[in-house]
Amino acid sequence: MERLKPVDVVVIGGGFTGLLMAKELATRTSVSVVVLERGPDRQLLDYMDDMDEVDFSLRFRMMQNISEETVTHRHTTANRAVPVREWGHVRLGTGTGGSGEHWTGVANRYPEDTFIIKSALKERFPASRIPADLSVQDWTLTWKDIEPFYTRVEEMMGIGGKAGNLQGRRIDGGNVFEGPRSKEYPVRPHLQSYAMTVFEKAARELGYHPYINPAATLPADYTNPDGISRPACQYCSYCMLYGCMIGAKAQPTNLLLPILKEKKTFTLRNGCWVRKIVHRDGRAEGVEYRDENGREIFQPASVVVQATFTSGNVRSLLLSKIGTPYDPATGRGTLGKNFTHQMSGGGNALLVYPTKLNAFMAAGGQGMAFSDFDGFNQLDPDANILRGGTFTGGGGGGHPIASFGTTPPGTSARNWGSAWKQAAIEHNDRTGGGPGFSAEHLSYRHNFLDLDPTYTDKWGDPLLRTTIDWTDHERRMRDFSAKISDRMAEEMARVSGAKIHHRPAATTGRRSGRYQTAAYATTHLHGGAIMGDTPADGVVNTYLQHWDVPNLFVIGASAFPHAGPTNPTMTALALTFRSADALIERYLKNPGKLV
Ligand SMILES: Cc1cc2nc3c(=O)[nH]c(=O)nc-3n(C[C@H](O)[C@H](O)[C@H](O)COP(=O)(O)OP(=O)(O)OC[C@H]3O[C@@H](n4cnc5c(N)ncnc54)[C@H](O)[C@@H]3O)c2cc1C
Ligand code: SF4
Repeated sequence: MERLKPVDVVVIGGGFTGLLMAKELATRTSVSVVVLERGPDRQLLDYMDDMDEVDFSLRFRMMQNISEETVTHRHTTANRAVPVREWGHVRLGTGTGGSGEHWTGVANRYPEDTFIIKSALKERFPASRIPADLSVQDWTLTWKDIEPFYTRVEEMMGIGGKAGNLQGRRIDGGNVFEGPRSKEYPVRPHLQSYAMTVFEKAARELGYHPYINPAATLPADYTNPDGISRPACQYCSYCMLYGCMIGAKAQPTNLLLPILKEKKTFTLRNGCWVRKIVHRDGRAEGVEYRDENGREIFQPASVVVQATFTSGNVRSLLLSKIGTPYDPATGRGTLGKNFTHQMSGGGNALLVYPTKLNAFMAAGGQGMAFSDFDGFNQLDPDANILRGGTFTGGGGGGHPIASFGTTPPGTSARNWGSAWKQAAIEHNDRTGGGPGFSAEHLSYRHNFLDLDPTYTDKWGDPLLRTTIDWTDHERRMRDFSAKISDRMAEEMARVSGAKIHHRPAATTGRRSGRYQTAAYATTHLHGGAIMGDTPADGVVNTYLQHWDVPNLFVIGASAFPHAGPTNPTMTALALTFRSADALIERYLKNPGKLV
């Protein structure tokens, strides 16, 4: 094995969190930073060549090659896990920028009480209402601790939105249920499409408080505090699963790389697949990896930052034998504990509008939402659920191939032939659903991550095994969301003159049964290396520093003790900023445990 010259910091993973940490280190200190990224190099200009829908959306050009590495899944410890062989429930990225390149750009903060979930549930419900196997815990920080970091992320990305709670003042048109924010969004919200106006009108008629989704797809030209200028979105709609060809969507390649490339202390090595962290006596000594030619290399480093998304982070710690693997039978150990996957739901309505929607013109994240059912808001006692979530809709983004062919039930017995073609053309760009639902996934003792005893990756290292299933609580959440969504759909039909149809659940992607890996949900996985106040209840401390190995930082949504109701990236990056501050301002000056 070749041994390289030591560096100050090695970052494993060149995705959103890894490159943000590298940018903070490279711009605020003189330490040498090497980022090891297993996938190919990527630049903004790469996206100018083509946006071939088949290649990107159907063949998943930007995703991890799952013939080289995947995860295995089982519902319970009584089952045998099998490998996920097709891109299904998640779409993990690879290459410079990671999933941060092909993400959609929905840019929500979590609600204020997310961070004190255990205390909030305890205060609200008698012990008899809390499921026995719930393993939620308060995060190691509160709204006050994280709010300034959310603001930094929003300013870095140029999030377009409208405040609904500015320093305690509620403002109609924003999310009036959000935690108090110290500043207005840096950029105005997105323009409203016709479908968004229908959503807004219907929501207001029903007494809800709709707002335009905050989005990382710039509604107007913007220059961020780092001096990075990006142009306004052109509403081309090729956002999710694509990199933005003009740089309007906030991505590591347009926000972070241009700064990093100017720094002599920074090196990005692509094609470098890290296999383990080498450590001795409670100190990380560096990492072992294979380069693009398959050579085995050891990179010594004074500090190691693990930034390989939730699944990669947990797997790397398990492969490196750092920390105590979680045992669901005894509840002992923390590594792999509290694995969650953001919940989604909604109804089965299909609206056929009297006019064309022009849905091909849209931006990632553009759409409407209401948070009237977030957290404990308006919980229906009959629904028997502990937490609610956010309803969203009105977003466009139809691509010519993927969005073609939606027809109302009963129009055509099959999805081929001349009758179907005629119906598909007639309904093209005129259909839409009721609101979707995204909700908290509480953590349970039985949902966890460990190493698979049977299956390995291309190097022969065990795959990550996911053991996860929905419980009756999530199934009841879905039923609750279907009721609200269907009520909204009726109202949307009334205000727009659309015709409403109710589709069988199986055709809508609404999954009310078991957790499944076949259909796409979100790439929002959390937990497994969670933050905790003590080594007994967390893998990392509140600064994402490993409890047992102080010169190891494990960043990303792996640190979330449970899944908040909306998308995770703003929270993951806010925690990365906070971790970077602690590393730079305290650890580098006085290496040791941060308390
Ligand atoms: C299709 C899609 C849509 C999304 N939309 C949204 C959204 O609208 N809003 C939102 O908040 N979030 C969204 N997300 C999630 C968002 O992309 C992630 O939260 C974010 O990218 C996480 O950053 P990360 O650094 O943890 O992981 P990533 O950005 O994925 O980076 C991890 C990097 O680590 C590298 N890596 C992994 N293993 C190794 C190894 N062994 N050695 C070296 N390198 C390795 C990977 O190749 C990758 O580049 C979306 C994700 C997807 C896939
Ligand atoms: S919709 Fe806007 S942000 Fe998205 S890829 Fe097109 S121009 Fe870029």
